[in-house]
Amino acid sequence: MKAVRIEGVKRVGVADVPVPNTDGGKKALIKVAYAGICASDMTTWFRGSPAITLGHEFSGTIVDPGNSMEFKKGDRVTASEINSCFECDSCRRGYPNLCSQVFATATGIMTDGGIAEYVAVPTNMLFKLPDNVSFLEGALVEPAAVALRGLHLAGFKAGDKVLVTGCGPIGIFAAANAKALGASYVAMTEVSEERMAFPRSLPYVDGLFNALDPELDKKLKDASETGFDVAIEATGFTAATQTAIRALRVGGHLGILGVHERDMVFNIPQLMFKSIKISGDFYSLPSDFEEVISLMASGKLDIKNCATSIIPFADAQKQFETNAAGKSLDIKVILDPSS
Ligand SMILES: [Zn+2]
Ligand SMILES: [Zn+2]
Repeated sequence: MKAVRIEGVKRVGVADVPVPNTDGGKKALIKVAYAGICASDMTTWFRGSPAITLGHEFSGTIVDPGNSMEFKKGDRVTASEINSCFECDSCRRGYPNLCSQVFATATGIMTDGGIAEYVAVPTNMLFKLPDNVSFLEGALVEPAAVALRGLHLAGFKAGDKVLVTGCGPIGIFAAANAKALGASYVAMTEVSEERMAFPRSLPYVDGLFNALDPELDKKLKDASETGFDVAIEATGFTAATQTAIRALRVGGHLGILGVHERDMVFNIPQLMFKSIKISGDFYSLPSDFEEVISLMASGKLDIKNCATSIIPFADAQKQFETNAAGKSLDIKVILDPSS
């Protein structure tokens, strides 16, 4: 079968490799329909290792369910990349996303993933797609679940005013999820005027602000009246994080999803005088996957148009180079094994 594999530093290629097996029935074999490229795939590409098949954002059809009683041949599915052990301290405390074995086993991150014609995945990582959730949407479930984790992390509830810093895919999916779950107002900030064109067209973005505008704080204050209840940080940069903290109301909560600067600088008195809470998390929970899929099925979460390019495997290297050069205005680039 064809698979898009890391071949070296800044190098992916389409390789001919054996179809993966079900590991004695412990895994299901899936024929991939679509698979997205994630920022973390870029990290692997830059590093040139591990030498795996990329892809943890995919959808497809089960061709062999292995020993599973829950799944059968023909089921349409997507999958989490997290193969939690459900036994370690993190798992037992309710953080299967931070399982001690996550970083050794994550599909498409540490082990062979779904940018291939077939992928084999332990069946406890699979989620069924209802008939009215397309394969294209199925490939967007994972990043949308990560974005949803941020909202839950920050204690989001219906009626809240939400600020999202950063109009990349995670930021946009956070905005979409917030509106789907009843946010009364959703604002986004973005440094790049070019990158503002897409979110400007989205029905779930109520306010869009240039992050470099010297009047930004005042504009966010005016827009939110009393400050935002929840902020989602999806840039990974200190400046955006500080903007979010200033824009929160008294008792507001910031959920951090972006990582670029590892050591961010916070204005501690600002946190104290407004009783601001800050939380961070990684990946998502199975419940986030289920919630995203049911929001998609209900029609409340419609992010199909965020799959802005669908390309063949042969174009993967060119796409990674474009992304690395910062020249891509795509929200999500999806690879199609059949093209
Ligand atoms: Zn991802
Ligand atoms: Zn565990």
